[in-house]
Amino acid sequence: VNLDPYRLPRNALPQRYDLTLAPDLGSATFTGHVRVTLDVTEQTPLLVLNANELDIHEVLVNGEEAPFSSEIETERLVVTPSAPLPAGTAELDITFAGVLNDKLRGFYRSTYRDPDGVEHVIATTQMQPTDCRRAFPCWDEPDCKAVFGVTLEVDPGLTAVSNGPEMAREELDDGRVRLRFADTMPMSTYLVAVVVGPLESTPEVDVDGVPMRIVHVPGNAHLTDFGMDVAVFSLRWFQDYYGIPYPSDKVDLVALPDFAAGAMENLGCVTFRESLFLVDPATSTQQERQLVADVVAHELAHMWFGDLVTMRWWNGIWLNEAFATFMEIAACDAYRPDWQRWTTFGQERSVAFETDALASTRSVEYEVRSPADSEGMFDVLTYQKGGALLRMLEQYLGPEPFRRGVAHYLSLHAHSNTETGDLWDAIEAVTGQPVRQLMDSWIWQPGFPLVRASHEHDELVLRQERFRYLPDAAAPPTRWMVPVHVRMGSAAPVKVLLDGAEARLPLPDDAAPVLVNAEGVGFYRVAYDEDLRSRLDTTALSAMSSLERYCLVDDAWAAVVADRMEASQFLDLAAGFADETDLAVWQALASGLRGAGRLVQGEDHERLQRVVRHLVSPLVERLGWDAPDGEPDLTGKLRGLAIPLLAVLGQDRESQAPLS
Ligand SMILES: [Zn+2]
Repeated sequence: VNLDPYRLPRNALPQRYDLTLAPDLGSATFTGHVRVTLDVTEQTPLLVLNANELDIHEVLVNGEEAPFSSEIETERLVVTPSAPLPAGTAELDITFAGVLNDKLRGFYRSTYRDPDGVEHVIATTQMQPTDCRRAFPCWDEPDCKAVFGVTLEVDPGLTAVSNGPEMAREELDDGRVRLRFADTMPMSTYLVAVVVGPLESTPEVDVDGVPMRIVHVPGNAHLTDFGMDVAVFSLRWFQDYYGIPYPSDKVDLVALPDFAAGAMENLGCVTFRESLFLVDPATSTQQERQLVADVVAHELAHMWFGDLVTMRWWNGIWLNEAFATFMEIAACDAYRPDWQRWTTFGQERSVAFETDALASTRSVEYEVRSPADSEGMFDVLTYQKGGALLRMLEQYLGPEPFRRGVAHYLSLHAHSNTETGDLWDAIEAVTGQPVRQLMDSWIWQPGFPLVRASHEHDELVLRQERFRYLPDAAAPPTRWMVPVHVRMGSAAPVKVLLDGAEARLPLPDDAAPVLVNAEGVGFYRVAYDEDLRSRLDTTALSAMSSLERYCLVDDAWAAVVADRMEASQFLDLAAGFADETDLAVWQALASGLRGAGRLVQGEDHERLQRVVRHLVSPLVERLGWDAPDGEPDLTGKLRGLAIPLLAVLGQDRESQAPLS
């Protein structure tokens, strides 16, 4: 038997778990029993599975008591049947007990206080990545998919939910009730969920045949409407996008007072940190509502991408999360087009650029030996860079071919496990483009390119190099396959794949503006030579999209930070934005101007103040100090940015006056 410290042997694989858990909220303990139906692939003298911080009371193999030992270090349970198990089906029964811990992992304890100050306890789970083994003994690896039949024995009056809908309820002699939930589809252990507590739920909403509810702490019903609205919209939108029906029977959205992550995509039983899901429509800001919309869409996107089709091992976490991030923005953009989610995502991408320009950055994907190695993947390079790379690919291929590729991938690998390359291959099969080669150049190399654009003779020359804040002359050159969209004048953008050191395009002799990274979806920065930069004048700016103008400003400020451009040149550029009304562009301008404020001194600083007043005063004048009824959400946010910018950085006397 192979005893790799990080991977369980594949000599016996679970087909189904019949799991009974009986939490006692008063003593914060639980007892449990699990029967695992196993497919023994070859004769074996022992069974090796995962268990952590559980008291194992008894183990039976095919009804016969079997000796076992717990290995603390590797979080394993080793069972030795009296005789080697022959190939075929076997049954493993384990009786165990545990503590509802305060670690927010496995089967844990959450609490809340009611208006009278009385504390109430909730027993709930968080399994990802490898804490299912804290709730019950199991094959706790993502490719050991099995059916879960969950039974809960709880005090009457408590609300209990799990992945499947409740199928049967019987009273026990001791006064408790036994609830049986429907079998799940075959899925990974990290998606198992159980929540038991004094909770309430909203009435069921029928979403084209899928019942949906929100489960929450009593007294919070009035905070659920927005979450429900976006969840109903997203579930429909994803069924449409993926072209595959929702893969389970119901959706419970559970708002918990204590939750370590933001939310968790347990199949049919999504758990949320309460503050990221419940909002008061009367008092919440646009920012808060957008965050809820993002998180809800993100988790529901996982029901297909992650739950139906799952990574083979934890190296695939990045793709799981990057894809859900991409879909969250796409769904949110469809839900509230006026929030311009793809434009504001530019800012989130800039945060990834910042980390990725450092010498200490990492490649998006890397080899993962132990599950703990994957914990470093839950960061800005996975979510924001990964999501931005998928957006770049989608826009290069075209949204509809990309969508068909994704749908092809999901139906090809439904109920199964994949490696990253399987997604690229499926999209490649549908589009005929070199998707795997292109994406490999982005996934396996750290950093991102700077694309330099210059006018040489009658050509536009594009060259790539790695963008760094600190140049490293000794580093070998990195090459990406860069999908560059170029717009010349008012013509439709041309798509060029810059896969070597340089690419050349004919440049018409008419001094028309040339915009590199047209549509603003590339994961690279752009530097123009003097001629090309001078062509991007006020008239050219007014013909550009918000995201394109955002990128122009953001790239320019990054060039200052990287010591490729003078701060005064940034001010020259900024001065051309006096007519700007877009929030995202203003956010980029403001962050550059504030940065410049820390760099320039003396006369230059006075010039900066004049530039700020010249730029921002007309904006504040237009917006006014008070919000009229029914003004767009983003306008209010822009006012909140403009007034302090004028008062503090612009040192404008009038806007410094206190509000009466
Ligand atoms: Zn996620």
